[in-house]
Amino acid sequence: MEEKIDDNILKLYNELKQEINTENVDFDKLDKAFLYAYQKHKGQKRASGESYIIHPINVAKIVNHFYLDDNSLIAALLHDILEDTDTSPKEIEEEFGKDVLFLVDSLTKIGKIEYKSKEEKQADNFRKMIVAMAKDIRVILIKLADRLHNMRTICYLNQEKQKRIALETMDVYAPIAHRLGIYWLKSELEDISFKYLYPKDYDYLEKKVRESLAKKQEVISYIESSVKKDLEEANLDCEVSGRVKHLYSIYTKMQRKKIDFDGVYDLLAVRIITKNEADCYAALGVIHKRYKPLPGRFKDYIALPKQNMYQSLHTTVFGPSDAVVEIQIRTRQMHEVAEEGIAAHYRYKEGLRVLDKHEKQFLWLRRLLKWQSEVKDAKEFLNTVKVDLFRGEVYVFTPAGDLKVLPRGATCIDFAYAIHTEVGNHCIGARVNGKMVPLKTQLANGDIVEIQTQSSHEPSRDWLKFVVTSKARSKIKQKVRDRERKEAIEIGKNLLAKELYKINKGLQEFIKENKIEDVLSYFGCNTIEELFERIGFLKVHPSSVINKFYPDKKKKQIKSPAKKEVYKIKADGIDNVVVKLAKCCSPVVGEEIVGYVTRNRGIVIHRKDCENIQNLGYDCERLVDVEWDDGRHDKLPVDIKITVFNRLGVLAYITQSATELYLNVKDIKIKYMDENEEKALIHLKVEVENKKEVDKFIELLSKNESIIDIKRGKKSV
Ligand code: MN
Repeated sequence: MEEKIDDNILKLYNELKQEINTENVDFDKLDKAFLYAYQKHKGQKRASGESYIIHPINVAKIVNHFYLDDNSLIAALLHDILEDTDTSPKEIEEEFGKDVLFLVDSLTKIGKIEYKSKEEKQADNFRKMIVAMAKDIRVILIKLADRLHNMRTICYLNQEKQKRIALETMDVYAPIAHRLGIYWLKSELEDISFKYLYPKDYDYLEKKVRESLAKKQEVISYIESSVKKDLEEANLDCEVSGRVKHLYSIYTKMQRKKIDFDGVYDLLAVRIITKNEADCYAALGVIHKRYKPLPGRFKDYIALPKQNMYQSLHTTVFGPSDAVVEIQIRTRQMHEVAEEGIAAHYRYKEGLRVLDKHEKQFLWLRRLLKWQSEVKDAKEFLNTVKVDLFRGEVYVFTPAGDLKVLPRGATCIDFAYAIHTEVGNHCIGARVNGKMVPLKTQLANGDIVEIQTQSSHEPSRDWLKFVVTSKARSKIKQKVRDRERKEAIEIGKNLLAKELYKINKGLQEFIKENKIEDVLSYFGCNTIEELFERIGFLKVHPSSVINKFYPDKKKKQIKSPAKKEVYKIKADGIDNVVVKLAKCCSPVVGEEIVGYVTRNRGIVIHRKDCENIQNLGYDCERLVDVEWDDGRHDKLPVDIKITVFNRLGVLAYITQSATELYLNVKDIKIKYMDENEEKALIHLKVEVENKKEVDKFIELLSKNESIIDIKRGKKSV
């Protein structure tokens, strides 16, 4: 160290080093981080006038209480350098590694989210958001340490800042500490916030407690010693300590019960720490035998732990000198969990540090699961923990700032349905953080999502491939099913009419000549639409209708149909149950098409000039007339086979031609046709809107001399 560092700073840093109780700390790396942060923050001052570096060292000192790893201590020392100095993330990674960068970067991101609203729900959402964004429990713990030191030095800020920070601490950070079960941190955050949010109430209470403490202190000592004696007589080896409750908890009690200070009779609390769980109950027996308990105040949090894993026996008794005293009884381990919460768990889990982050979290959860397995509401408990700490969810926002909680993997479509069914049903596009993205884009924490809708648009069956919420899934299915049903009814009606036409009957005639109830009951249908639907879905063959109701009529050959039955085909989520596009010729909008009724794949649409259709032979009676619908169509994929001389630039020419015509190339495959690789077959899949686009493309391709042959369709040449 060439440069002289201020004595105070060195002293503070050495204090930190001496306090460190975690094993395997790399002190060289820690020193390096300290010097690095010192250099980076040089010249910067805290509001108190002290050198800035005082803050990160103090944060590291607090983090040290959590018994985390050395990277957490290093991250604490470096936590403000991304935000407040010109350091780049890359630099941190190079100097201190990925893990430290991850921690520092996460802390910086959390620092950037702003807490605005005072509404309770908003506070809760904000809390979840922070926890979710933290991704790693260490980040939350360092963040809490950062906040605690800022609260301890809040007196140097102006009043407006004090109020804002105190409110945020009370609404967001203290509840997180509570949820994590870190009692000492929660109490201190609350007491300082309380002082700045309600200064008058604080001063009043502080004075009152100080006054009564003069008397109370004697009482406490007396209670301590007499309780200890009672327990010793019963052969119980316990630690006994008494205290006055913390200010904010007295205050909330006054608020909750609408009483004034004199009405708070259990200002005193005595804690008994026992050797084991059985001793807790034994000690309780001794206390209740000796002092009269207040009815209705006994709580067994050992058998039924609180959500944050807190375990203890609580009772309130008329203690010595008739003082009302709250008594908490627990084991050493329960006490550590009560005071330090999740941090204590971290410590008890041996070998935890060698596991990767995710596994750690999983282990921790599994441990909780085991703990909670005897508890009745274990499931509810776990759900809460999962929402807050297990990252099964993403938190995203509407442009107006409303929070939506979605399962991990949720897409823009899921988001649209989460807003409203109609928004989902008519959704055509999405912007995430201001950028247009595909609808199947998975959302990340903190994304701001804007959905575009068009009233004529309907959900596509494809969406089912990527949505994850059950709401989106069921609504899409319902819409798709409705549409397919309608199509099936239309197709079934036409198929039956076509079949009837062969025996010179019309549909109306058929309905008139036969008792419709008989027809329906024969096929087990309730309505004629249902019968059409079943024919349309090819569950009932139209000829079986004819065979049943006109057994004598011989089918007569039709030479030219007098009246055309035409089904309108809409290229919109067209790969549905009823209608599919033939892969052999991949027809596009604008081309003449024909439908082929298959036995189990519904109606397949071919181009009229498709070779497969030309070669049908006797099967041509299964052809149905179809036509493209006049409305809006989706883009359709077209397969094109191009035979080329293997010359430089030919592939580039093909892709450039596609780009020139704004065609989206979905796939491209190349196969050499001879050993010398002189000729190649290129299989291209492009998306087009209509026939015009394919024709133009083919025309453009044929201009290149290296291109020998161009064919539509998948069949090999
Ligand atoms: Mn800080």
